[in-house]
Amino acid sequence: YQDIFNNSKDAIYICNLEGRLVDFNQATFELFAFSEEELLEIEVHDLFHTKEKKRELLYALVANESVADFPISIEQKNGKTRQCLISASIIKTAEFMGYSGIIRDITEQQKAGDLRKARDIARQSAKMKEQFIANISHEMRTPMNAILGMSNLVIQTDLDEEQHNYISSIKQSSEILLGVVNDILQISEIQNGKVKFENKNFDLHKLLNNLINVMQYKAKEKDIFLELALPPEIPSILKGDKLRVNQVFFNLVGNAVKFTDSGHVKIIVEQLGAFEGGVHLKFTVEDTGIGIPKDKLESVFESFSRVRSKDRIFEGTGLGLAIAKNLIELQGGKIGATSELGIGSNFFFDLIFEVGEELELSTDIQQEPAFDKDASFNLLLVEDHKMNQLVAKKTLEKQWENIKITIANDGLEAIAILEKEVFDI
Ligand code: ADP
Repeated sequence: YQDIFNNSKDAIYICNLEGRLVDFNQATFELFAFSEEELLEIEVHDLFHTKEKKRELLYALVANESVADFPISIEQKNGKTRQCLISASIIKTAEFMGYSGIIRDITEQQKAGDLRKARDIARQSAKMKEQFIANISHEMRTPMNAILGMSNLVIQTDLDEEQHNYISSIKQSSEILLGVVNDILQISEIQNGKVKFENKNFDLHKLLNNLINVMQYKAKEKDIFLELALPPEIPSILKGDKLRVNQVFFNLVGNAVKFTDSGHVKIIVEQLGAFEGGVHLKFTVEDTGIGIPKDKLESVFESFSRVRSKDRIFEGTGLGLAIAKNLIELQGGKIGATSELGIGSNFFFDLIFEVGEELELSTDIQQEPAFDKDASFNLLLVEDHKMNQLVAKKTLEKQWENIKITIANDGLEAIAILEKEVFDI
């Protein structure tokens, strides 16, 4: 028994009802952080907190002759507080009235418990944030589509120059806003590990030529040359996620055009290696623009980073490169940049692709519907948003004069209509 008493990690002691100690083990003075001698000088009950709790404890002890696992705080000599559980039972003899007590220090367990709680709360709020962003982005995109679609329709009507300019501004601003919403939605998907990649045949040469066509318009406005250096021996049909590859190019080339005032923007494709059924390609977007200072080069790939605060006039979110970096790295590639202030920048990335089969793709293309301008066909439109119904209907009718459109407000309605009627689309 003496060994158990001496070696116990719990404080074990005997004291009178005022708290003056009669006997105690080493763990007792370690718990109170007093020396052995000091402890004998004081009433240990003075170290029990709060005063109300102490009174409650002693009352219960005297009334029931024992207490078990009664929670109490103990204030150490150094001012620190320990969270404890005390169990005690009354000792009553002819010459002594007091109790024997065992105090267990549970501060660390409690901290671990608190940490676990904090972690659970953090996880939960991350989930809520994700949900919130997804919902809000969706809720924003629906009316944005209406604004954008309606501006497109108005701009095609008879307008004087002033009206045309106003509508143009609405259209441009809503395109930018839609881009911002999409960026935020996408970075949040990436951060939550929700991105999945396709591995389907696509035509790289076609993708890059399309990109040049789309970007040419902006480049021409600024009088800069937009070039593509794509050696013909680079395989054309690859397997991968066409949309994501396109998006990365769009970001890099978009930036290059945005930050270049004279000279050129050039997309360079090189083959780094080839292996059984696949190729390792490197893509560089070279510009002769304003450049990026050396010490900022790393940080441009971080979320919400802009090199200069006056970049604000370019209306970027500072998310484009962060998204590009994530999309490339998730596909196993690397992205980087070199730059010289006032001379220009090079943004480059590499990816490994399986080489796809020409055949599969051509059947793919045949599946694409091709309707002439004056073709007449039946289309079932399923859309729950009233304004977007109108946008879709009017936009389609402008494209195809002889189109017949039926609108269903939701999936159930659509299925009911489909049981009675046949549609081309
Ligand atoms: P943003 O939407 O602001 O363009 P990005 O993530 O695409 O966001 O780019 C972050 C910042 O990196 C830009 O605001 C700009 O300061 C700098 N940057 C990116 N590309 C270039 C470039 N080709 N030339 C000069 N600066 C660039």
